[in-house]
Amino acid sequence: MFAEVIVDVAHSDVDKIFDYACGSEIAAGMRVAVPFGKGVTTGFVMRVKETTEVPPEKIKKILRAEDRFPALTAEALMLAEKISARYRVPLALTLRLFLPAEMRTGKVGERYCTVCRLAEGEHTIPARARQQAALISFLRENGEADSAFLRKRFGAALSALEEKGIVLREKRRVFRNPYRGEEGTGAERTLTPAQQSAVDTVLHTKRTVTLLHGVTGSGKTEVYLTLIAGVLKEGKTAIFLVPEISLTPQMLLQLRSRFGEKAAILHSGLSAGERFDEWMRLREGEARIAIGARSAIFAPVENVGIIVIDEEHDGSYSSESAPRYRTFDIALLRAAYHRCKLVLGSATPAVETYRRAKEGEFSLVTMPDRINARPLPAVEIVDMRREVRRGNATVFSASLREKLKKCLGEGNQAILFLNRRGYSQTVLCNACGYVAKCEHCDVALTYHSDEDCLKCHYCGASYKMPSACPSCGGKHIRYVGTGTQRVVQELGKLYPAARMLRMDMDTTSGKEGHFRILKKFANREADILVGTQMVAKGHDFPSVTLVGILDADMSLHFPDYRSGERTFQLITQVAGRSGRANAPGEVVLQTYDPDNYILRFAAAYDYTGFYAHEIAMRQATAFPPFAAIVRVMVTGGDEKEALEALRQTYGKLQKLQSAHPDQFLFFNRMHAPIKRIQNKYRYQVLMRLATGSPIGEIYAICAEIKYKNTLVYVEENPSNLS
Ligand code: ADP
Ligand code: ZN
Repeated sequence: MFAEVIVDVAHSDVDKIFDYACGSEIAAGMRVAVPFGKGVTTGFVMRVKETTEVPPEKIKKILRAEDRFPALTAEALMLAEKISARYRVPLALTLRLFLPAEMRTGKVGERYCTVCRLAEGEHTIPARARQQAALISFLRENGEADSAFLRKRFGAALSALEEKGIVLREKRRVFRNPYRGEEGTGAERTLTPAQQSAVDTVLHTKRTVTLLHGVTGSGKTEVYLTLIAGVLKEGKTAIFLVPEISLTPQMLLQLRSRFGEKAAILHSGLSAGERFDEWMRLREGEARIAIGARSAIFAPVENVGIIVIDEEHDGSYSSESAPRYRTFDIALLRAAYHRCKLVLGSATPAVETYRRAKEGEFSLVTMPDRINARPLPAVEIVDMRREVRRGNATVFSASLREKLKKCLGEGNQAILFLNRRGYSQTVLCNACGYVAKCEHCDVALTYHSDEDCLKCHYCGASYKMPSACPSCGGKHIRYVGTGTQRVVQELGKLYPAARMLRMDMDTTSGKEGHFRILKKFANREADILVGTQMVAKGHDFPSVTLVGILDADMSLHFPDYRSGERTFQLITQVAGRSGRANAPGEVVLQTYDPDNYILRFAAAYDYTGFYAHEIAMRQATAFPPFAAIVRVMVTGGDEKEALEALRQTYGKLQKLQSAHPDQFLFFNRMHAPIKRIQNKYRYQVLMRLATGSPIGEIYAICAEIKYKNTLVYVEENPSNLS
């Protein structure tokens, strides 16, 4: 027998099949150890076959299987090949997507424990052996127990009884379970007519994809859970994707109590061992629902009955490292393979998704009302220019302050949102205008008051806060722009009794991440939650009656054709956190541009109005979905080499353009807006292409360009053009 093997080295030079001889214990999908070059490396078996073209004297043998089962399913092998061809990345790289990182590094393995139990039959022991008698009665009561525990408690009695054959030991596989002992309130609910009709549509439509467009608090989650429960009853499995940040403690408990051990939850708060075990439980079919963020789309479940992507518009569903896949595309491939349904849910669908539903490619379900006909919170737009004219120099408008006072006074909670972490955006010298910048990146630094330092938000570098201007020696330093830290500080002055929590990238690192903060807020250990867009996602806090959006304009001016769409989504989502239970909610939206149509549509919860406006504009200006924005990035530490790579790339793309002149609506090469990040120079070729243009050829061109220290890669409709 022979095996076709891909070695686990992500380099295009070795991205090809190598044949090895093997025994009958080797199967497709297995990880194996193979001799390669002068050493031994891990490989993936793609196929097993009877014959090979390789001459017998040249063929080497597989040394061993790395696991006792094929880690990769037949579907995974097929998908990995497709993804590799689509994005022109080595197969080893796409195969890795289907495995937990812990498995490849070999740092974590299956965990076993040794348990002891009594042998069958009567056991007679000498009366003096009191410890042995105690151990026997302990085991009689408990059935079995961990051997290390018994040794500690009963000492030498354990080995004595083992020698006599009275106590037997056994090796037992254990799963590290992150949620053992946690109870939740996930009782099934009677569906409302709107929810029931959503479920029926998904089940009965002929289309694969259903878009569930339901306002915040319309009960979409219950629709997903009902669909998933139905699929489990048929003996199938499910994949349920949510943005990482929506995996709140409440959500986990709800899933846990509804589905128990059948649900495997993959998220960044797990330890490596826990993540590995959750993956294993899915691979072995013990767990049948894979729940997680983007990467859970690669979960090793077979016989999939449904795939759900909640908050489908969320930016986190696009991968920002190679392969730069979109989760939806992978989901569609898996849905086709399993002939199952794919459900997309959102209160603010991506413009592109909504268009596909409108055009009839997806079926569309609308849930326009909140559960129990609770009203959506009223949104007040506050003109911050007027506040400035009135002499209010703070970030809180008079109206927001008044409403905060009322909210706190009534014992409710508030969420304040602004899209900038740290204390202030930039630090300027009042005398000479000097701006503190990162040494490794072409960006201004942000002041962080808790550590009294300057930080680069692109590379994380940290600098001492200068006491005088490094340029002119001036002593007067100005802080421009407000971040979350400053908001918390100023709130403290206004409401000394209020308890505050801050949630942003600085406070959510580490294993517990955002869980700790959300749990505290849910337990009402704080009155005000101040945060970046992390606070906008899916949370359901019944006591929140006020949401303040401090700088609605920030995201409007982001360099992206979707900045209007993003702003609409962000405002709708964050506003949706208010008034979810019995007390009605309010929203204060502060802006310097109160007549902006995006803000107007958002304040009126008018998605269809927003969509009609946005799609007309995209069509008129030939932007996605009527065209594709393709950016080829060239980055490298050696400026000369990067420029040379850019020249070569551009030359080849120019040839492609002359072959298809009508396809290139825009074509230019330039510095990327941020010229340097982490000491890497950044150049780009920016293109706007008619739909259906030769994107595959662009990938091919970039894959051919090989420099030692320079990376050339393609981004399709990138969400960040910096
Ligand atoms: P969405 O995901 O659409 O924002 P959720 O699924 O969070 O909305 O539901 C909003 C609230 O309504 C939650 O508190 C949920 O427990 C509750 N809910 C959902 N469905 C029902 C139902 N059928 N009956 C009663 N309450 C429900
Ligand atoms: Zn930096």
